[in-house]
Amino acid sequence: MSLAAIQSRLTTACAAQNRAPGSVQLIAVSKVQPLDRVVDVLEQGHRLFGENYVQEAQAKWPDLRARFGAVQVHMIGPLQTNKAKLAVELFDAIHTLDRMSLAEKLAKLAQTRAASPQLFVQVNTGAEPQKAGILPDDTDAFVAQCRAMDLPVQGLMCIPPEAEDAAPHFKLLAQIAARNDLSGLSMGMSSDFETAIAHGATHIRVGSAIFGARTYG
Ligand SMILES: *Cc1c(COP(=O)(O)O)cnc(C)c1O
Repeated sequence: MSLAAIQSRLTTACAAQNRAPGSVQLIAVSKVQPLDRVVDVLEQGHRLFGENYVQEAQAKWPDLRARFGAVQVHMIGPLQTNKAKLAVELFDAIHTLDRMSLAEKLAKLAQTRAASPQLFVQVNTGAEPQKAGILPDDTDAFVAQCRAMDLPVQGLMCIPPEAEDAAPHFKLLAQIAARNDLSGLSMGMSSDFETAIAHGATHIRVGSAIFGARTYG
């Protein structure tokens, strides 16, 4: 696969739903990819990336932004509270707001800086014990609490259970977002982004299908 091939599949998936192709943002997930692959995608003109690790992003993106200009980088990995300050300086959006202690920390940082990245609340749609995220039944209250702290919650994010059909999870996330008046839906990865688009995804997070398989060192 390649960037062009994924963009073309995105366009086809949107057309099948009568959606404008611009209504879905393609986040190229560049975590642990060799730098030359990331530069290649930047040279093709792509400007929206996703990272999972604060330190890796910090080592990579200040330089690449200096070289390529306005690039948006979204945090899509678990965020430790003690890295929140660095994260709000580095990222344009954080997709993994998954607990109250992090919301409180981000609210404090937003006050001090008079700015905040856009936020997505991560929902544990499969109620998996080992997975981060707010449980579906707790999400309305959590979103309300974030709003009461003036946090810019743009939408919801989920990572469906690996062994299951993703569609019911995407559907559930879309329902929770709709009843909370949230327009952003961060869902869909290399293996299921077309299904996510069919269920209303506004941000798809695609890594290996663009860059090739990740090799963890
Ligand atoms: C790594 C990752 C992705 C991208 O996964 P691919 O299967 O390579 O497309 C998407 N979302 C999250 C949260 C990830 O950690």
